[in-house]
Amino acid sequence: MKTLKITCKMCRREGVSLCGREKCAVKRRPYPPGVHGPKGSGRQTDYAKQLREKQKAKRLYGVNEQQFRNYFKKALNMKGDSGENLMRLLEMRLDNAVYRAGFAKSRPMARQAVSHAHVSVNGKRVDIASYMVKSGDVIQIREQKRQKGLWKTLADDLQKKEGPSWISVNADALEAKVTSQPAAQDMLQPFDAKLIIEFYSR
Ligand code: ZN
Repeated sequence: MKTLKITCKMCRREGVSLCGREKCAVKRRPYPPGVHGPKGSGRQTDYAKQLREKQKAKRLYGVNEQQFRNYFKKALNMKGDSGENLMRLLEMRLDNAVYRAGFAKSRPMARQAVSHAHVSVNGKRVDIASYMVKSGDVIQIREQKRQKGLWKTLADDLQKKEGPSWISVNADALEAKVTSQPAAQDMLQPFDAKLIIEFYSR
C-alpha cells in the first residue's frame, strides 16, 4: 500500500505538525501556504470547515479516504457519541498506539516500524499499521530488532516520558500494555470530530 508523503506544506495547511519533524515549518510559519498566507483564509462555508477537519484528521493519522470512511461507518454503529467513537477507532490503530507509547517520534515513523515488522502484539509479529489494539494487548519491540540503531536509545528516552493513561509502558522491556480504551480526555485533538461526522452525514 502506498503511504501518503507528508510534506510541511500539509502541516501548514492544517495548522498543526503532521510530519513529526523536529524543524517542522509550521513552527516558523503557522499559517497556510500560498499567497494569502498570513492574512488568513477568510470566511469558510460549513462544508469547507467540515472538509478541512476531515482532511486534517486523515492526514494526521495517515489513512486514506476509503479507510477513513470505514471508520466513520463503524463509529456510527457503535454505542455512544459518534465523534468520540471515530477518534477512538483512530487512536486504537497499532501505529498510533506505538506512537502514543513513545516508541516512535511521529506517526509516520511508528507506521514504518510496524510495517517493517519491528513490532509484536501479544508475542506475535504484526506488521499491519491499521491493526486495532484492544484492552489487554501487549505491544513490544521484537527481540530480533532491538539491536538496530533505532531502538538502542529508546529505553532511556522512554524513562523520561509519560504515556497516555490508557497505555502503560515498561521502558526496560520495550513493552507497552493497553490497559483500557482511551477516554475522551485522552483524545484531545487538533481537529473537531463532530464536524467530520457532519461532513459524512451530509
Ligand atoms: Zn511539517
